[in-house]
Amino acid sequence: MQEFLQDNIFKIISEAADEQQQECYVIGGFVRDIFLKRPSKDIDVVVVGSGIALAEKVALKLGKKAKLTVFKNFGTAQVKLNDLEVEFVGARKESYQRDSRKPIVEDGTLEDDQNRRDFTINALAICLNKDRYGELVDPFGGIEDLKNFVIRTPLNPDITFSDDPLRMMRGIRFSAQLGFFIETNTFDAIVRNKERIEIISKERIADELNKIMASRKPSVGFILLEKTGLLELIFPEVLALKGAETKDGIGHKDNFYHTLAVLDGLCEMTDNLWLRWAALLHDIGKPRTKRFDSRLGWTFHNHNFIGEKMIPEIFRKMKLPTNEKMKYVQKMVSLHMRPIVLSEEEITDSAIRRLLFEAGDDIDDLMTLCEADITSKNPEKVKRFRSNFQLVRNKLKEIEEKDRVRNFQPPISGQEIMETFNLPASAIVGDIKMRIKDAILDGIIPNEYKAAHAYMLQIAKELGVTDKK
Ligand code: ATP
Ligand code: MG
Repeated sequence: MQEFLQDNIFKIISEAADEQQQECYVIGGFVRDIFLKRPSKDIDVVVVGSGIALAEKVALKLGKKAKLTVFKNFGTAQVKLNDLEVEFVGARKESYQRDSRKPIVEDGTLEDDQNRRDFTINALAICLNKDRYGELVDPFGGIEDLKNFVIRTPLNPDITFSDDPLRMMRGIRFSAQLGFFIETNTFDAIVRNKERIEIISKERIADELNKIMASRKPSVGFILLEKTGLLELIFPEVLALKGAETKDGIGHKDNFYHTLAVLDGLCEMTDNLWLRWAALLHDIGKPRTKRFDSRLGWTFHNHNFIGEKMIPEIFRKMKLPTNEKMKYVQKMVSLHMRPIVLSEEEITDSAIRRLLFEAGDDIDDLMTLCEADITSKNPEKVKRFRSNFQLVRNKLKEIEEKDRVRNFQPPISGQEIMETFNLPASAIVGDIKMRIKDAILDGIIPNEYKAAHAYMLQIAKELGVTDKK
């Protein structure tokens, strides 16, 4: 018997179901994850009859430590016990209309309920009634599919996907998350039904994309999205990275596969979701800036800058958060070439100070992104880049310890400049302020008030501004 069935909560559900004479099963993702040894705290229980009545009985038995919430409109109820969440729902039969993923729902049997599930591995049920406690109900060969790492719909995939096209995204997401393969018929049905994705809300699509992004190797998901044709519909900007052109015998790398290599590489170094998004989008400006020059070959001038500008529209359109997370992604994309350019030149203190000033506390994330961006197939080149990169890291540390310019605020404010010279708010005030900042970043003066004040008086003189005192 499965170990989890020894758990008190399942014994209590079992007793309650028997007392109510209701057939009852634990079902879906929780059961799948038991077999995959991915323990989860979300438990779905399906009851042939009323889910609410069973939840009420279970809550009564658990007493004060349990919290019951009833969702009358949905005919479901939830019991929370410490960090466990058990969802109770009556078995149902669903039928769909073409223009909506909201089905017409009727009461049904366990079989009906399993038929409406998206994949065989998500349709597994384990009986909780005493006389069948622990009995697995697996009508579609879900266990076999788990063993073979296969994603397959329980019924005709064309119907499953057309009924609820979100399932196409879920299938690809499971493939990335679990490292499974999408069975051929199921895959082909996604290709045939891809256009149906248009009835799915952007928020749901973003949820699935975020789960792909959070997986160990997101490229698996993006390659499937591309192969099925879904990528073109949900994220054309990323698809535009695909392809490598050749002119006069000169080619450029395929930026789609390069981006995925950077993303996978970065995912080995960090779980930071928004840094992962920055990796996906770091070259997003390349297709729009691509030019061929007979002297220089292929160029992508300012692609970091164009990429930074494209991000707000992408985030808005895709219903990703347009808050400080987006700003962080923009900053990473805009700065993503700076450390690598530095590593190819002689590294001046001034360039390092400027990088520290612009990246602020995100400097370590930027270095991680940049390191992941080194994907050349030439091992000598990679080695050289990495060792130069180490020099940049060392220098960053040295300068930061010495000058503390990360997040620095110029020691002289605009207000002070205005008061000292009796100036109104004007361009000249901004100019003086900027020159003080530049002098600090260039190492002409130290990052201190006294030196900055003296420097302010000096440049004011040069500009013909007089000290009123
Ligand atoms: P995860 O929790 O990682 O998102 P999950 O499979 O547990 O994956 P849930 O949204 O928690 O997904 O749903 C629980 C179960 O409900 C699934 O395992 C599946 O049986 C069923 N299910 C969820 N969404 C759908 C859907 N769109 N179509 C059919 N069945 C679904
Ligand atoms: Mg779940």
